Amino acid sequence: MPTPSSDDAFAEVKAKVDLVKVVQEHVRLTKRNKDFWGLCPFHQEDSPSFKVNPQMQSWYCFGCERSGDVFTFVELIEKTDKRGALQLLAERAGVELKKLSPEQKERSDSRKRMLAMLKLAAQFYEYVLWSTPAGEPGRRLLASRLVKEETARRFQIGYAPAGRGFAEYLRAKKRSLADAQEAGLLRRDGTDFFAERVVIPIRDERGQPLAFTARTVRQDEQRKYINSPETPAYVKGRVIFGLDLARDEIARQGHAVLMEGQFDVITAHGLGIQNAVASSGTALTDDQVRLLKRFTDELLLVFDADRAGRQAAQKAVLLAAGHQMRTRVATVEGAKDPDEFLRAAGPDATKRWEELAARAPSGFEFGMEEAAAGLNLSNANHVELAARRLREWIAQFPTALQEEYRERAKRWMGVSGHLLAAEPDERRNSGRPNASKVGKNGLETLPVGKKMTVGRYLLQLLAVRPVAFDRVRTKITPDELDEEDRGIYVRMLETYERGGVFGLEKELAGYPAEEQDLIRRAWAAPPPNVDEEVAVELAERIRLDHMKGRHSGIIRELSEAERGKDSERVARLEGEARELARAIADMERRG
Ligand SMILES: [Zn+2]
Repeated sequence: MPTPSSDDAFAEVKAKVDLVKVVQEHVRLTKRNKDFWGLCPFHQEDSPSFKVNPQMQSWYCFGCERSGDVFTFVELIEKTDKRGALQLLAERAGVELKKLSPEQKERSDSRKRMLAMLKLAAQFYEYVLWSTPAGEPGRRLLASRLVKEETARRFQIGYAPAGRGFAEYLRAKKRSLADAQEAGLLRRDGTDFFAERVVIPIRDERGQPLAFTARTVRQDEQRKYINSPETPAYVKGRVIFGLDLARDEIARQGHAVLMEGQFDVITAHGLGIQNAVASSGTALTDDQVRLLKRFTDELLLVFDADRAGRQAAQKAVLLAAGHQMRTRVATVEGAKDPDEFLRAAGPDATKRWEELAARAPSGFEFGMEEAAAGLNLSNANHVELAARRLREWIAQFPTALQEEYRERAKRWMGVSGHLLAAEPDERRNSGRPNASKVGKNGLETLPVGKKMTVGRYLLQLLAVRPVAFDRVRTKITPDELDEEDRGIYVRMLETYERGGVFGLEKELAGYPAEEQDLIRRAWAAPPPNVDEEVAVELAERIRLDHMKGRHSGIIRELSEAERGKDSERVARLEGEARELARAIADMERRG
């Protein structure tokens, strides 16, 4: 039962805090008439049904039907109880709470002392770095990494001198060494935890230091980086490095650039990429994605170029998809990480960066490329392996996305639908009919003798007149063919390239049965006209159909982007659609 005095405290706090401001730290709100609207932080949704009424200081979600005032909001969002919410809000409003239990009071005080101590440490280290001779090794390290003072100061980078510098400073200031120990700043023997290291504060999205990460300046030191231990103030995996500095630019650009290392972010900001942040010290976590989701719906992932970095990028794509966030993945080439890439680019850094970002495929496409990396998609065994990997990749996405992704994977790789359908046991679970006619190489059995499509006509013609490949292959690429024609087309082309006009006869026995069947039928009963001119015409028609298909795909994507009010994507898609429409018109005029 709340005591009268705590009722007073609730009323006093409520009078002093603004619900809209509190909510805005967690949800992007848009004003409509006199209310504010945003995506509900308590259930997953794509369009805003979470409403804040500033007059009543109340909120309501039309989706999950949760509602309440500022206390219930904080209770739910911070996963605390009513008392905890009161404490947090009182702290913010500067209201003294008299009725805290002794342990609550102790916990709140100890947290406050810890945060103050971390702030003090950051100031001390920064002072040592720039204003004392002891900071020289730190200044040299930053210079070698091309970090300018102005940038370093924005991140409040500092230097921890050798020995007991910080302890002595605290003694002089008559501050508690125990607090510093608890905050992970001093060892038990009083030496500085970060001695002889460049220290970088890890701050929350409001700029409060919660911990440090520190890089050694010594050549002989084995551990390049060390981090603060976890404390009541710092839980690894809940902080996004650089978010306090990047949040405005993220809002302006509509996306965040997510990197792995602190120095990646520092270098990026120094070069004007001010929407860059890092997951900082851990693989990206669900909590971190949720935190980012408060500020944006799109992440550009720029991870290290090695295998571990590429795997981390794939995990991040999936995590983000789980929160309905879009991703793109940029790959730094010729450098081990974004920091090195940007520094190596020197004065061209901004330009190189923009090129890199423009080339970045969507997170899903990136995963497809990874699945097929190192495989030869004209080799049947490889096709099967790639398809298995693609299936596994798609299966990790939210169910709502899987159907569309399967479609895209089919187009991308030219694998039959059955090959990319869910695994048999998944299929049973979801009540799908069993795929029947999958050939031994995994490709769908060709419906031989069924209706003659343009692609089928071309294949028959090429079987009879392989020399037509010389011109056909300059007109179309395999991915412009329908997926059921693509495998055999590529196989025949390879055969032609290896063995010329007689190659097919020699290699036919190695073809899958259904493809052999198609070719033998063509030999036995050739299509009406097998001129090279006809082959070229067929190829052009295939090309045109493919372009039209792509065009309508872009139009579909465009309406989705418009619904999502993603103006950057809308502009890009409109440009693509225009260009494609022009090319289609050109081709139709010529043809
Ligand atoms: Zn809701």
